[in-house]
Amino acid sequence: MSQPVYHASMAVSASGHSLLALLLDAHPQISHTGDTILRAHLNERAHCACGQPFMQCEFWGALRGWPGYAALRDEFQSGPLKTVFSLPGLFALQKLLYATSAALQRYTAHLLDYPAQVQALSGAPVAFFGRKRLADLLLPLAAGTPARVLHLTKHPLAQVISFRKRTARAHQSLADLGREWRFYNQRVMQAARLRPDTAYLHIRYEDLCTAPQVTLTRICEFLGLDFQPDMLRPGEVRPGHVLGARSLVGAAGEKFPGIRPPDLTFDVLSAAEQAAVWRVTAPLAQRLGYLQGYTND
Ligand SMILES: [Zn+2]
Repeated sequence: MSQPVYHASMAVSASGHSLLALLLDAHPQISHTGDTILRAHLNERAHCACGQPFMQCEFWGALRGWPGYAALRDEFQSGPLKTVFSLPGLFALQKLLYATSAALQRYTAHLLDYPAQVQALSGAPVAFFGRKRLADLLLPLAAGTPARVLHLTKHPLAQVISFRKRTARAHQSLADLGREWRFYNQRVMQAARLRPDTAYLHIRYEDLCTAPQVTLTRICEFLGLDFQPDMLRPGEVRPGHVLGARSLVGAAGEKFPGIRPPDLTFDVLSAAEQAAVWRVTAPLAQRLGYLQGYTND
């Protein structure tokens, strides 16, 4: 029997990953649980897309009862190993660390067991691990696991605007936020090239919003599945159990607000601010199919 494939969706925070998770999870053969494993202090505040508070949702209750849940939540939170595993350029070192560390092997075994747990609960054959840390992609690769990587990006100018709305980032310079966009997305692309049995698909958030059916059809083809119209109506046909952005996965009774067109004017940034971001992101942004502005300049 061939080895199971590890499905990962990778995206910087605040770049539309919750939307992607909701749309994928609405496919009857895909399970996507969103940003997957909550830190314990969020337990009481979070809501599941099924409408239940996180702590009352049966699906998540069952997952929390699986010993791997606490291990994935609490282990590997800090320290030099985490740093090494965010640097795909050192893959030989990472493989060596993996091979010699029982703790990393234990953590990775839980990571690779997560999809089987979700599959057993949801019945969907394709289950994503949605936590977007580079280590959670690199450890399965270091363990020799075949993978499918879905890489979601947002226009770098829209991304820094989204970052800046988060108070924790308000003190960071625009250039630093742009560098963060570049660093993470470069690392995902490098990771996808480390092993020949890693399949990779890049998706732009903007395409997901403006041409959802075309974009979701591309993703389905990548996964070897047919597009299902249910994907455009998350939560309508069957309840999903996505955890994610509060604007999409709201309190009980709130319905999915629909797919909104992306704002591509970037007007909240001055021309000089836009130039500062573009200066540090341009080569990668252009490779990913982005232009500096959608308006003429
Ligand atoms: Zn739920």
